[in-house]
Amino acid sequence: MSPQDPTPTYSLELFPPKTAERMERLKGEIATLNTVAPRYFSVTYGAGGSTRKGTFETVSWLRRQGIDTAPHLACIGSTQGEVLELLEHYREQGIDRLVALRGDLPSGMGGGIGGDFRYANELVAFIRERTGDHFRIEVAAYPEYHPQSGTPDRDLANFKRKVEAGADAAITQYFYNADAYFALVERCQALGIDIPIVPGIMPITNHSQLARFSDACGAEIPRWIRRRLEGFGDDLASTREFGHQVVLQLCRRLLEGGAPGLHFYTMNQSGPTLRLWRDLGLPGGA
Ligand code: FAD
Repeated sequence: MSPQDPTPTYSLELFPPKTAERMERLKGEIATLNTVAPRYFSVTYGAGGSTRKGTFETVSWLRRQGIDTAPHLACIGSTQGEVLELLEHYREQGIDRLVALRGDLPSGMGGGIGGDFRYANELVAFIRERTGDHFRIEVAAYPEYHPQSGTPDRDLANFKRKVEAGADAAITQYFYNADAYFALVERCQALGIDIPIVPGIMPITNHSQLARFSDACGAEIPRWIRRRLEGFGDDLASTREFGHQVVLQLCRRLLEGGAPGLHFYTMNQSGPTLRLWRDLGLPGGA
């Protein structure tokens, strides 16, 4: 665990719903999730502002409930002026934590042409330049390496740029191989990177959805897990039970190995994450 931040951080990620009905449903899920008092909720943001309205609405609603919230801010395709506007908007709402990302532009929005930022380290530097230490800045890390990184060494050097630009902590892409996480932490330590690197945890509830996400983001589903999930076919109850046990063991190993917290990708569903939270005996998880 990092000497800089000895208190483990348990946080929950949401995405902005696309319709008013889903927003209403999400409010109910948040109320249930909030019973375990996570350190904060984060809310994703579509690069190029594609979810701007939904992210704003979700963040504002959370803030009105007095809940600590970390909006994600993805910079690709945005101008400095647009990012500054977001920073001011969040600061006015009393937000002091952000997840700073490059993002991936949705297909059809052009390869980032017209934006002022190419990589997340430039965003982190810009936030620091314009807002000093107001925001605690989380950045992304990749135990299985980012799919566009030339080599693992280059990916790590690029991660270091984000830390040097002023990131306070990192959240990882999800993974199911604990050794990949421990190896990343070790390599970071060898490079003098000592910010907390919090594992991102994706509950397993639906095989085809997980396979689709994993293909898109470069996260590996180990063969033995994939084969078991394939074997369950449409049997969602067995998929969920097996998935729960796999992810529970993963979280236990990570925490026993010194991970400085866990960040759950809730997929806007309280059930799978709360079951993990409680079975792990995390704080507030009565
Ligand atoms: P970067 O750190 O900029 O890295 C992107 C790639 O460029 C890597 O291959 C890196 O090695 C390389 N690179 C970095 N800096 C340089 C440099 N200076 N020179 C050359 N190469 C460089 N996406 C969204 O759109 N919205 C979200 O809300 C969102 N939330 C996320 C939350 C978490 C915790 C994680 C792990 C990912 C999230 N993503 C989100 C996905 C993320 O935006 C993508 O993985 C994206 O492809 C990379 O973003 P990054 O911030 O890691 O980029």
